[in-house]
Amino acid sequence: MRGWVSVWLIAAALAVGAEASAFECTRSDSRCIVSLQWPQRELPYVLRHPEGSRFSEVEASRATDGAFERWASVACSDIRFTRVAILPPGPAHPVSNQVEFVDSDWELDYDPSAAAVTSVAYGVTTGTIRTATIAVNEFVTTTSSACTGEFDLETVLTHEVGHFIGIAHPCETAATIDPDAACPVVACEDLEATFTEDDRVPTMWPVVNPCDRQLASLESDDTQALCFVYPRARPAQQCSAIPIDGNVLVSNKPFGCTSTGRPSAGILAALLFVLYGARRRR
Ligand SMILES: [Zn+2]
Repeated sequence: MRGWVSVWLIAAALAVGAEASAFECTRSDSRCIVSLQWPQRELPYVLRHPEGSRFSEVEASRATDGAFERWASVACSDIRFTRVAILPPGPAHPVSNQVEFVDSDWELDYDPSAAAVTSVAYGVTTGTIRTATIAVNEFVTTTSSACTGEFDLETVLTHEVGHFIGIAHPCETAATIDPDAACPVVACEDLEATFTEDDRVPTMWPVVNPCDRQLASLESDDTQALCFVYPRARPAQQCSAIPIDGNVLVSNKPFGCTSTGRPSAGILAALLFVLYGARRRR
């Protein structure tokens, strides 16, 4: 008993003294101790641009390329993205990763209030990402500097690219929390309480203001997440170590997840989306 108390006190002291770092990785729904990551460092994608899009092909590709490039230009990681084609929506392409601009019937497939939705398919026991798609809601996004209540396209895409590579929101608000979430999440108000005046809101923050372009730049939490999971010239790694004793996964304190049992195989698609629209401080 005494030993446990000491361990907890030391852990608490370390946590208080540690530099603020809030990033979080997307977790396997059925094994929340497992985080998601791509096994390869070069990720191709197809841009799906409908004929009736409110964005020209140049606008759509510029915003998309700009968003991927922000993540690709961080020195401590070597993740890379390649746009292999710009095509209208239609038949499958050998490259299944997509950025899809949706100009009709958004509400039939997605949450009406979401500016974009990123879907990731992954192995539930390994966290290995197989394919990812970003769907962009054209009705609420804009590239215009004369923004009137819409969301800045490149800002939205930069956030979604984070999800595309397996990075989660560092916290959730009452508006963004998934009531069916399998893994524990941090409340944004608790996280904000740890911020100092100098802290900048990470790009992976779950909420952004209309017309706000500030979240398009990556902050230290975002780059720490990127470089932790995809360190330059080294293999991708889990967000936290998965201790394995025989076939039993044991509790993992740093991220608050506990999972026990024998891993099983399977694939699962997870939906991650932002409910853009609430207020946000910067
Ligand atoms: Zn998000």
